[in-house]
Amino acid sequence: MTETSTIQRITHLIGHEYWTGTSERTAPVFNPATGRQTGAVDLASKDLVDEVVARAAEAAVGWAATSMTRRGRVLFAFRELLNANRQRIAEIITSEHGKTVADALGEVTRGLEVVEFACGIPHLLKGGHSESVSTSVDSYSLLQPLGVVGVISPFNFPAMVPMWFVPIAIAAGNAVIIKPSEKDPSAVNAIAELWREAGLPAGVINVVHGDKEAVDALLDNPEVRAISFVGSTPIARYVYERGTANGKRIQALGGAKNHMLVLPDADLDLAADAAVSGAYGSAGERCMAVSVVLAVDSVADALVAKIAERVRTLRTGDGTGSADMGPIVTEQSRDRIVGYIEAGDAAGASLVIDGREGPFDGDVDGYYVGPTLFDNVGTEMSIYTDEIFGPVLSVVRVAGFEEGLSLINANEYGNGSVIFTNDGGAARKFEIEVEAGMVGINVPVPVPMAYYSFGGWKNSLFGDSHAHGTEGVHFYTRSKTVTRRWPDPSHRGLSLGFPQNN
Ligand code: NAD
Repeated sequence: MTETSTIQRITHLIGHEYWTGTSERTAPVFNPATGRQTGAVDLASKDLVDEVVARAAEAAVGWAATSMTRRGRVLFAFRELLNANRQRIAEIITSEHGKTVADALGEVTRGLEVVEFACGIPHLLKGGHSESVSTSVDSYSLLQPLGVVGVISPFNFPAMVPMWFVPIAIAAGNAVIIKPSEKDPSAVNAIAELWREAGLPAGVINVVHGDKEAVDALLDNPEVRAISFVGSTPIARYVYERGTANGKRIQALGGAKNHMLVLPDADLDLAADAAVSGAYGSAGERCMAVSVVLAVDSVADALVAKIAERVRTLRTGDGTGSADMGPIVTEQSRDRIVGYIEAGDAAGASLVIDGREGPFDGDVDGYYVGPTLFDNVGTEMSIYTDEIFGPVLSVVRVAGFEEGLSLINANEYGNGSVIFTNDGGAARKFEIEVEAGMVGINVPVPVPMAYYSFGGWKNSLFGDSHAHGTEGVHFYTRSKTVTRRWPDPSHRGLSLGFPQNN
């Protein structure tokens, strides 16, 4: 549905000012809870992106030369502003993404934690220093900013994912261009306005909205030194390949199919609670969602019964109300998810709970799918092989630990993997042998804290660096090692030999 009178223009924020030009192309933005168009976002041309990169490059020079103390103060001010505006930003997220306001508040809070980590930038940028590595020679290392860096984010965490990167990149002295998802672009604008209020100089943060044309422009512009991308695996691979071919530093986080292995000695109530919150939180539109439960045969019936009992209590509806789960982000995504449910049913999996019919506590035109539970899922079925990115949980029955672990390790993705057990030895073997970047032991969604790094293995991440934590600091800096001599007057002499310590 379209209501032209209430459609808001959403545009680029360049050098702290909203762009006043006229866009040749725009994309519609919808409220998924009502199915109504609420906005039209400008899609940047290559020329506009190149112009923004040039302005950011100028700003980067002054910002890199700004003392760390002053940079840190901007971070602290931004932290306070973000905290004060959490509710407003969460409501913006809900209006375009659909997730419940409580869930949106959670994502802003996790983003805030990265800001708090970045507030310690003077400590994080300390290099090493060694005195007298040779006679009258000292050696030390510097961590310097890269210049202009790009952040390209997905729809599912419109605030948190950009904040995995932006605070650290800025704190380290870079200028940033963010390209948010065109499906829910407004939260990033609201957050960028807070950076202005916090005293960040113009041009150090810029928001460019767009699609493939804007992404390609960032990937091809030689002034953009590094790109942090988060999205689906095919696009992550593309961004990595094109960006590295152009000589850039790239971290490209992709899709996931996260498994939760439940051993017979696990606390089944704890496991069932975890499976439900991990699978259906944010309607399953999380890269760390639990989408497969591997249930060991001897407890599978009991576990499925406990999961089903909990799923039946969930309410799906408008995220601004009291629902546990909001709508799906777009009509196309909703239809794709429904297609997977049909395929799983047709392939012979047991459809324990069918979320297609509702009831839904929301507008009839909203993009709703209720929580769906499949049991006896085969590993050849598309509901097992594909990332569904919706509220669909598949239970695969396995003989025991070894079969569960080999299924996880055979999977093309390796974002998060989880085990539920009371056997410390089994948990230890799991954490050592599982091929995944983030591991949970009796924890369903093991998202690392800001001071650790977030990232998967295999097709869940292309590049060498994970997000935030020390890996994030390294990603946004280049190291330089200085070997310095201040000779005392007695130390003279010519030597063509290779410098060495004798
Ligand atoms: P997406 O790949 O469709 O889009 C991500 C970004 O890429 C957006 O900014 C989009 O505008 C841009 N883009 C889309 N098509 C493009 C193209 N052809 N060329 C260049 N750029 C393009 O992903 P999405 O649907 O927004 O997000 C969901 C996906 O993101 C899921 O697969 C999910 O697992 C993944 N994700 C991964 C993580 C992680 O940490 N690994 C975190 C969040 C989301």
